Amino acid sequence: MTTTVTAAATRTRRLTGFQPTGRLHLGNLLGALRPLIAAQDAAESIALIADLHAMTMDHDPASVRRHTLEQATVMLAAGVDPERTPIVVQSQVREHTELHYLLECVAAHGEAARMIQFKEKSAAGGPIRLSLLTYPVLMAADILLYDTTQVPVGEDQNQHLELARTLAIRFNTKYGDTFTVPEGVRPDSAARIMDLAEPTRKMGKSTGTGQIRLLDPPEVIRRTVARAATDQVGLVRRDRDNQPGVTNLVDILAELTGRPPSDTTSYATLKREVTDAIEAVLTPIRARHAELSANPDSVRAVLAAGAEKVRPTAAATVRRAREAIGLLN
Ligand code: AMP
Repeated sequence: MTTTVTAAATRTRRLTGFQPTGRLHLGNLLGALRPLIAAQDAAESIALIADLHAMTMDHDPASVRRHTLEQATVMLAAGVDPERTPIVVQSQVREHTELHYLLECVAAHGEAARMIQFKEKSAAGGPIRLSLLTYPVLMAADILLYDTTQVPVGEDQNQHLELARTLAIRFNTKYGDTFTVPEGVRPDSAARIMDLAEPTRKMGKSTGTGQIRLLDPPEVIRRTVARAATDQVGLVRRDRDNQPGVTNLVDILAELTGRPPSDTTSYATLKREVTDAIEAVLTPIRARHAELSANPDSVRAVLAAGAEKVRPTAAATVRRAREAIGLLN
């Protein structure tokens, strides 16, 4: 067995990924960005804009580039401090793709082919990109590259995180201790924000019609909340099975304000409170975004600095992996 340097993970290191397939929305803010910002002192976090993942389905090159820059700008506007939390564009750190290939050499075709997300997305018809099949292996590379100890994952990414753990353990067992084996950490269930128009499905960037995008103007937000699906029950309470729409609005309000609705009977009041709470959170983000986007070069500089900051760790991991697997360093 080749001698390798043991990956020493002494601190909590967290990786949160965002795909630049669309505009960031309230689910991204409450489920991922706010927890990331809140933990900036407690953990070493990396915010990864996974642009390579945005190319696993038919894509528009200009919009991937535009969303990459916009997401970085929104992250800064929302309070990500790049001094503590590097914002990294995946493709700007070449080690992601190099490690991806090395991990493909310990991954089986069947492991990738049985991923639920692959099955769902490939069932949509049309040509299936090979990168859609191998995407979870690239995600494993994203995680393992930085000696990540914790990955915040929702249910839909559980299987992919398990694969990352499996590949890390398999590689370590076969070729010597190389990777830190990451743990998944669950965001609490209230942070799973549902689509306002279709509250049984998760709010997503490209799905549903009831998204609240972080840069939406106030009148669009007011209209989207006013049209949010409710029910005939007439009670403002949490009951996800029977009142998914009302439950979602109550959860959003609780996440935004830290308190339950003040009025326990009227849906109209609930919607007004939700609209006001969203506005209170988004107004400063919008204003800061406008300032930052006036100078996109400064955002690009933040991204270049982010890549620069994490590259030594990425290079060290790839070097260990190359050594272990039998390549000449
Ligand atoms: P994605 O939008 O799939 O690129 O996900 C970026 C991050 O936002 C991940 O950490 C997701 O778990 C989180 N996220 C995405 N959609 C939601 C949602 N509707 N509710 C809560 N968190 C979400």
